[in-house]
Amino acid sequence: MAYLKVCVLRSSSSGNCTAIWTAKSGILIDCAGIDLEEIEEDLRDIELYPSQINGIVITHGHEDHICKNTFKIAGRYDIPIYIHHDTYQIVKKRYRVKDHQFEIIHHTERPFIINELKIMPFKTFHGGGYVGKPFGFCIEYKHEDSYRKVGFLTDTSKVIDSMIRMLHDCQCLIIECNHDTELAQERSPNQSTWREHLNNEAVAEALIKIKNGSTDSLALKHVFLAHISERHNESGTLINRISDGIRKENITDCNLILTHRAKRTQIKEIL
Ligand SMILES: [Zn+2]
Ligand SMILES: [Zn+2]
Repeated sequence: MAYLKVCVLRSSSSGNCTAIWTAKSGILIDCAGIDLEEIEEDLRDIELYPSQINGIVITHGHEDHICKNTFKIAGRYDIPIYIHHDTYQIVKKRYRVKDHQFEIIHHTERPFIINELKIMPFKTFHGGGYVGKPFGFCIEYKHEDSYRKVGFLTDTSKVIDSMIRMLHDCQCLIIECNHDTELAQERSPNQSTWREHLNNEAVAEALIKIKNGSTDSLALKHVFLAHISERHNESGTLINRISDGIRKENITDCNLILTHRAKRTQIKEIL
């Protein structure tokens, strides 16, 4: 039986790593805030072996997405790193990476293939030092006549219509649910970093647009709420708030899943 599986290993402003895999192909999206021993333990638990990982795909240059550990893990298991050229130039200088130490593959804004997976990048809206060129991705797996599609969107201040169109018909979506705007304004009025991230209301609105524009009835079956701020959000009530927001549009069939700073989520399987 063909499948596409997803597990978010880490997600927060201190580290991000998501595994997406089939029986024959696997990728990590970002790989930071998790050390070699921790990732080995997680991969063992989810039965994804490092030799099955064909690439680490980097969203942008911030150190909660790519850090020294990324290179350690890539080097230990000989996994190529897929990264946009502009982002790599910044990261390379920052971590003093020598080109020959790792296999670095530059992706552009165009789709690229990693084994059986088609990766479709799209630009996000995100700033700050070391950011490089930030991207979200759609990951598509075609098996015989069926398509499975996973969307990945974190570290963006807004979601525009072209991004929504990309994310139509994703059966699984990992989406940043960073902050409650009122809470962030109240607790950190002079801070600018939270403004580079997606707020709860914008997430609900994006989910409604994605679902309403999809033809696949299984669109957004699994939605991982990612990159949640500890200080500017309330994870205890977050699922209820998002589900209340989308229920107004009669959307009741999304399985909302919280992601965590220091532990992995359950595995979601798209059949
Ligand atoms: Zn981040
Ligand atoms: Zn970032």
